[in-house]
Amino acid sequence: MRSSIAQHAWPPILTGPGATLMALQHHLSNTQWWSAAQLRDQQLRQLTALVDFATRNIPFHANRLRAAGIEPGTPLTWHSWSRIPVLTRREVQSAGDALHAAQIPASHGRVGEVASGGSTGVPVRVRKSELADLMWQATQIREELWHREAVTSSLVVIVRTPKHFTEAQKKASKSSSGLTLPHWGGSQSQIWTTGPLHMIDLDQSAETYVDFIIGHAPHYIYTTPSTLRLILWHCRNRGITFPALRAIWTRSETVDDALRDLCRDVLGVRIVSNYSAAETGYIALQCPSSTALHVQSETCLVEILDAASNPVPPGTCGRVIVTPLHNFATPLLRYELGDEAEAGDQCPCGRGLPLLNRIVGRTLDHLTHPDGRRQQFFVDHYSLSKIRAVKEYQVIQKNLQRIEVLLAVARPLTNEEAATVRAVLVAALGTDFEIDLSYCERIPRTAAGKLPPVRSELPQQPT
Ligand SMILES: [Zn+2]
Repeated sequence: MRSSIAQHAWPPILTGPGATLMALQHHLSNTQWWSAAQLRDQQLRQLTALVDFATRNIPFHANRLRAAGIEPGTPLTWHSWSRIPVLTRREVQSAGDALHAAQIPASHGRVGEVASGGSTGVPVRVRKSELADLMWQATQIREELWHREAVTSSLVVIVRTPKHFTEAQKKASKSSSGLTLPHWGGSQSQIWTTGPLHMIDLDQSAETYVDFIIGHAPHYIYTTPSTLRLILWHCRNRGITFPALRAIWTRSETVDDALRDLCRDVLGVRIVSNYSAAETGYIALQCPSSTALHVQSETCLVEILDAASNPVPPGTCGRVIVTPLHNFATPLLRYELGDEAEAGDQCPCGRGLPLLNRIVGRTLDHLTHPDGRRQQFFVDHYSLSKIRAVKEYQVIQKNLQRIEVLLAVARPLTNEEAATVRAVLVAALGTDFEIDLSYCERIPRTAAGKLPPVRSELPQQPT
């Protein structure tokens, strides 16, 4: 740990924001072991404060809460909570400024704005307080404590260049030699003296990423799953490994078992993933002893609901409904993110934080059959990854009859390889569709730098 005091080596003394973060972390190091019932009792206390604030300050919520039988000053119960209707992205989008509080308690800090396209492509804009940001940072520190072997390690980051970088930093990050900073920055550097950070923009070729990684021999890589897939493809074809590497941390897109297996096969390291959204903050972190995800109950309430809005039992998939507990600037009460997840049971690690076995895909990862039936679509990444020429791919529903598989390839596919791609699609979808293969050099990312595995050009359906 670093010390905030000049010429002072030991024992470390933290002051300022780092001290606040570590004091909070001390509490979180206990609450992770609490029982589910203990956690829910405290969540209800925080929800009571949030709901009371929303009924008094935001007419949009006051009307919805009154309709659910919740009046200002009445005690909140889990029964009354379950009567609050789910808030969809479209409702958030159309309510616009009506969802923002004109004023929040001064001790919640300043307010900023974040926008998210999410996984459904419905853009939403919310305001966030400094208090909500503090909870975000506290979860980042918890992720470090759960998963990082050493904070003095070196880190290669391959993401879209942040907007707050200086022009010189942006230019460096977008060049093939990248940008090097002495420390990781962010909330980690408020607490520890971290190792160096080497960053390169993700809008470059796999060969450039891999040369950059070899040049810096990092202990950790931080990137998106679709970028990782490109790196693994390139490394496997060239027989490249990174001997110093300990783990790959990811963000943004979903990590599936096939990618975890491929990463172990090719580079011999594990993936550390989490589940977050700009408008809600962190939702879940990977368990330190498995690939399941622990809900961050101290910062948000997560409900996994079926189509009739009842909680699903463990082992079953449902819609992810999130309520961030501390953001009074734009309260999101029972917000439907647009993702689906499989609810878990008690985790063998002993933590009481609820478990999500996996994020099973985004609601948009559905294709519609000619008869109108919607099907969740899982592509067999592992079979496709065996075709060495395929660097990346995207499945696009063009209309009710036609599916296009867009493939970024290193060379034209052989007839046998093209037949394998078709067979993977038929195995997943049946024979309802004409399947066309088309080829490109590289598949365009979204503005947020994501590569959605499935995209639909059908007129958008209500969510
Ligand atoms: Zn666990």
